[in-house]
Amino acid sequence: MTRIHLSSPDVSPLEERHVVDAIRSGWVAPTGPDVDSFEREMADRLGMEHAVALSSGTAALHLVLVAWGVGPGDFVPTAALTFAATANAIAYTGATPVFVDCVPSTGNIDPELLDQTIQRLRDEGKNVPAIVPVDILGKCADYDAIAAIAAKHGLKILSDSAESMGARSGDTLAGSFGDAAVLSFNGNKIMTTSGGGMVLTRDPDLADRLRFLSAQAREPAVHYEHREIGYNYRLSNLLAGLGRAQLARLDEMLTRRRAVRETYVSLFDTVPGVEIFQREGDDEDNCWLTAILVDSNVTGWPTEQLRKALEAEDIESRPLWKPLHLQPAFAGSPQNINGAAETLFESGLSLPSGSSLSTDDIARVTTAILEFLGEV
Ligand SMILES: *Cc1c(COP(=O)(O)O)cnc(C)c1O
Repeated sequence: MTRIHLSSPDVSPLEERHVVDAIRSGWVAPTGPDVDSFEREMADRLGMEHAVALSSGTAALHLVLVAWGVGPGDFVPTAALTFAATANAIAYTGATPVFVDCVPSTGNIDPELLDQTIQRLRDEGKNVPAIVPVDILGKCADYDAIAAIAAKHGLKILSDSAESMGARSGDTLAGSFGDAAVLSFNGNKIMTTSGGGMVLTRDPDLADRLRFLSAQAREPAVHYEHREIGYNYRLSNLLAGLGRAQLARLDEMLTRRRAVRETYVSLFDTVPGVEIFQREGDDEDNCWLTAILVDSNVTGWPTEQLRKALEAEDIESRPLWKPLHLQPAFAGSPQNINGAAETLFESGLSLPSGSSLSTDDIARVTTAILEFLGEV
């Protein structure tokens, strides 16, 4: 029996063909026709003017902040409930991440707390050039409210859409919010290039600047002229080939993730004390991960007990992201916390959600959960 993971890469013969074609084209480099096509196809899909393919989502977050001149002395509010990469990228610039708590029903940054946080920082005379909201587990943050706050305070929005490709909010697609948005194509994300990332923006100057900085800030001179420090952040042409195949299959993969979500919805429908996280309005989400929230006062068992029972069947499940204000790496960081993220961390469990799960895999997970529920 093979292990069932939370979100395994979903690759088919189409991806294989694209990578082989890319190798045969001779463009075995961080530049080439597949990079150009991948950028154009992604920009088209998201209705954006510019897409810049980069080596990871983390690199993409970092580079946008660098391009905006964010650096030491700056304070950048972001979500408390997110993957470390969001705050790492802020820290790379020398700026200080400021952790803001979330709306309990979505897990995304709480706009009221965000507004309050920015106001407090400004009152203290701090420089707040940008904010980084996150679309956690593939649900878009509340960008209407966030955009109003950003406009009021005059700061830029960098949308961390690493988890939300394929999601939308109303008619607006994840990856097209804010002044720039970042996607991740890491192996566990909804579409993958094994590792990779992208910046989407409507700002042509930002796109040019990102291309320049990501290729070692090389001036157009045959002798390699450099006036500033650059980065080696471009995406490999081979991986862009992989990405193009994934994009062609994205809708199919989204459909599959949704079907997995619906399986869990019916499975837990009649279980008191268990609800599906982010269920409200989830027809707009990409269902990257499906998580449950457990009220152990009602169920009589904590999430950890279910996690261990699944682990015994070689099935992976995990708590939601441990909030960053609780992480030793960010101890002492400024924060505006009301306990919502911590409650989600304690009660939430992400379940296998990948589009590559077979019918047999789903049956195995379902059986393991039903057996657990029957025994406790
Ligand atoms: C995956 C992820 C990232 C980082 O993307 P990489 O491509 O792995 O560098 C950033 N933010 C969030 C919220 C993520 O889930």
